[in-house]
Amino acid sequence: MKSIFLLLGLAGLILPGSAVTADGGMWSTTSVENVGYVSLEDIRSFYKLMPIAQPKGSGTRAVGNGTVTLIFGPGPRVVSIHGLRCTLSHPTRPDDKGDILVSKTDLLKLIDPVLRPTYIANRRAIKTVVIDPGHGGHDSGTVTDYAREAHVALMVAGKLAGELRQRGLEVKLTREVNQHVSDQSRVDLANQATDALFLSLHLNCGRSDVSGIETYTVAPAAPGETERPANEHDAANAALSAALQSSLVRKAGAKDGGCRRVNYSLLSSLRCPAALVELGYATNREEAESLNSDEYQSKLALALADGIAAFAAVMNPETQLKALPPPPPPPAEPAKVEPPKKKAESVKKSTPRKRRPAQRKKSNSRRRKR
Ligand SMILES: [Zn+2]
Repeated sequence: MKSIFLLLGLAGLILPGSAVTADGGMWSTTSVENVGYVSLEDIRSFYKLMPIAQPKGSGTRAVGNGTVTLIFGPGPRVVSIHGLRCTLSHPTRPDDKGDILVSKTDLLKLIDPVLRPTYIANRRAIKTVVIDPGHGGHDSGTVTDYAREAHVALMVAGKLAGELRQRGLEVKLTREVNQHVSDQSRVDLANQATDALFLSLHLNCGRSDVSGIETYTVAPAAPGETERPANEHDAANAALSAALQSSLVRKAGAKDGGCRRVNYSLLSSLRCPAALVELGYATNREEAESLNSDEYQSKLALALADGIAAFAAVMNPETQLKALPPPPPPPAEPAKVEPPKKKAESVKKSTPRKRRPAQRKKSNSRRRKR
């Protein structure tokens, strides 16, 4: 199955002729309560999308182009980006022309990086994944009759580590046994590396009828607020959470709790792209029983690994060269658009597949030894 980025814009599908960053003073901005807003009409025109009629009374506004759909609402805090439900940092607002206004923060730090991750200005290659199984030791996290958070997180982390190593990524675990680890040591481990992403694994708690997976990243600084170290990677964080959440929902078959923003102190001091995934609700009997099963833990690990691999692929600066036509093309050579797309597909898919049987056997036997 395709990752959200292949569905969306990795190959420059959305903006065939444009290599313009969505950044800068190009947007005409309206300020409401110190928040800068851009009209949906301007967004639509920038991405070359068309309005999509919505059922009366649905409370939604949609634009799309056959490849990508953006649906705002219902409610002012929600946008679905090609079916992926994301929470906006600032509510959308109606304007006086019957249009809606979308905050510039949400445009630049959520919508654009999910649509066009290869345009993230400070992206860098990801070679190390710091997996952080939440809690541990005297801190068991949420404990119910059906699941123990610290234990399930550790189990999934171990399986994920195996999946990622098979994909050639360096893996570090903040804990490998049931022991207490301070938030600071978790952060330090990630901040030591210059090529890392950080993924914290947790279980949620709530009403017994609530279930599903949610992915959290640090909230962009509010107007007037000082940026936290992690805000340097707001755009990459959005792309990471989209990659993880879409993979989890599709491959693990879990209910989609969406991509959300938070101010957890653990995430705030990280200096690399980072996300915290609530893998399910320990308080929901059915989901918790799945979370305890070896089979579902493996499914989650595989989905997380695929999401990380998709993110790592678009974060690699070389990806742009392979997947996108060269940026601002002075129109001299018109015949270079098709080959790079094919290349991106075949480099990614066929090469590893050919070698798979041999590799698998090797890594399986390596695994069994442990
Ligand atoms: Zn937790």
